[in-house]
Amino acid sequence: MAPSSPLADRLADVRARINAAARNAGRDPASVTLVAVSKFHPASCVQEVLAAGQTVFGENRVQEAAAKFPPLREQNPALRLHLIGGLQTNKAKDAVRIADMIESLDRPALADALARAADSVGRMPELLIEVNTGDEPQKFGVPKEEADSFIRSCQQRFGSSLRGLMCIPPAEQDPAPHFRLLRSMAQTHGLPVLSMGMSADYPVAIAEGATLVRVGTAIFGPRPATA
Ligand SMILES: *Cc1c(COP(=O)(O)O)cnc(C)c1O
Repeated sequence: MAPSSPLADRLADVRARINAAARNAGRDPASVTLVAVSKFHPASCVQEVLAAGQTVFGENRVQEAAAKFPPLREQNPALRLHLIGGLQTNKAKDAVRIADMIESLDRPALADALARAADSVGRMPELLIEVNTGDEPQKFGVPKEEADSFIRSCQQRFGSSLRGLMCIPPAEQDPAPHFRLLRSMAQTHGLPVLSMGMSADYPVAIAEGATLVRVGTAIFGPRPATA
C-alpha cells in the first residue's frame, strides 16, 4: 500500500521500526501489535491512519472515544479500540460498551465497577492490569507490592478476559528494568499480553517482550492543546 500522506508515512516508519526491533530480538514481528494512540486528534486523522491499514487505536478518555469511534467503527468493522487512560468508576459502563480492551484496570473498586457494568451491558472487553512499576504517587496503576494479589483476584473473577499487564515507566528513568519487571510478573501469572512502550521507547519494550506497543506522537505528531 503506497503511503500517500504524512500520517501514512509516519505509520509506515513506525511499523518498519517495530519489525526491525522484533527481528533484532529474535521475535516474530507478528507477535507485536501496534496500538495507534489517537487521543486529542480529530476523527479525520484516525480516518487517515485507518485508510493506511492500521486497525487498533488507543484513547485515554472515555467521553472523547465515545464521541469519535462509533461512527468510524460503522465504516470499519475491523477497528479495535483500546482504552489506555486512568478510568473513573462512574465511566465503567460507557467504557465496557465501547472498548475492545481496557488496559488500565488498577484497583478493586474499578474491578467491581467493571464486573457490574459487564453484567448490565452484556459484554466484557479484554482487560489488562496497569502496574505502577515506579511506584509514582501521581500515576495510575496498582502499586508494585499489591500487584500479585490484585492480579490473582482479577484472574479468579474475570477468567480469560484478563489478558495481561500494562505499565508506563517513570519518564526520567531507563525503562528497561520496568519492562523486565512487568514481563516477569506476567510470566509468574501465566498472562500472555504485555502492553509496554510508547513513542520514546517502543523498540526497547519490544526487545524486553512487549506484545502491544502504544504509539501516539510518532504517528500523529504532537498532540494539539486541549481543554
Ligand atoms: C498518550 C499515551 C501513550 C502514547 O504516548 P506517545 O509518547 O505520544 O507515544 C501511550 N500510553 C498511554 C497510557 C498514553 O496515555
